[in-house]
Amino acid sequence: MSAQPLPAAPRSTVTPAATLPAAPSLRIAPGTASTSVATPSPELLAELAAESQRLETATPEEIIAWAAKRYSPDLAMATAFGAEGCVILAMLARIAPETYVFNLDTGYQFQQTLDLRERIKDKYGLAVDMLQPELSVIEYEALHGGPLYRTNPDQCCNDRKIKILTQAAQGKRAWMSAIRRDQTADRKAASIVHWDKKFGLVKISPLANWTKKDVWKRIFAEDIPYNPLHDQGYPSIGCWPCTQAVAEGEDDRAGRWAGGAKTECGLHTLESGGSGI
Ligand code: SF4
Repeated sequence: MSAQPLPAAPRSTVTPAATLPAAPSLRIAPGTASTSVATPSPELLAELAAESQRLETATPEEIIAWAAKRYSPDLAMATAFGAEGCVILAMLARIAPETYVFNLDTGYQFQQTLDLRERIKDKYGLAVDMLQPELSVIEYEALHGGPLYRTNPDQCCNDRKIKILTQAAQGKRAWMSAIRRDQTADRKAASIVHWDKKFGLVKISPLANWTKKDVWKRIFAEDIPYNPLHDQGYPSIGCWPCTQAVAEGEDDRAGRWAGGAKTECGLHTLESGGSGI
């Protein structure tokens, strides 16, 4: 269930944030932290597999409570302020408000997304850190002779998302994401708990078993703030250059990197073999 099926909004109603005042942010500079990636012991992998199995029938709240008890204060939550992320933030506010929450602020987010940070803060008192790459959008595009999202979106995502999360992971033991298994082929195999080799952290996905209907039912039941773009034909929202409204009946992620082969930014893609994605 979407917020309500509505026709795609004209692009003019959407506000690229790059033209507007920036939200409070923290700029991540290369070299300010070591970016070594941890490796898990066999005992840890066995524990994670057992806990993941046990939590398959748990509620998201029970999963979050387990994660907070097991990993706080070394637990972080990454949010792009999607509908699922907003649901988890509402749960965190009740269960583990001390959790460190951050957003990968690429410099290309919609103003509506940045505004949502303030609405979440007002309602729940959760202040989401906005982690930015070292180079501003202007500096980055000057370095590459123009917007890299047009010519090499994988590198753009790597530079402006993956590297920032890798640096944010330093000093943490676990991170939480809001992915659902039914969102993409890559996410179908996501465990509730597993070792994330890419970032050297335990990854916890409390909503892995939820459906889109579950998410929106909770949003409406609790009046959880959500991105108004969802009511304008944008079921999945990322950076504005790589996000389009979708037509009714289209896949929810059809508007992400539309027209290209890319379907994921790389944060949640499966890695072959081993213990995790
Ligand atoms: S989603 Fe697009 S603009 Fe955002 S980091 Fe990836 S390629 Fe760049």
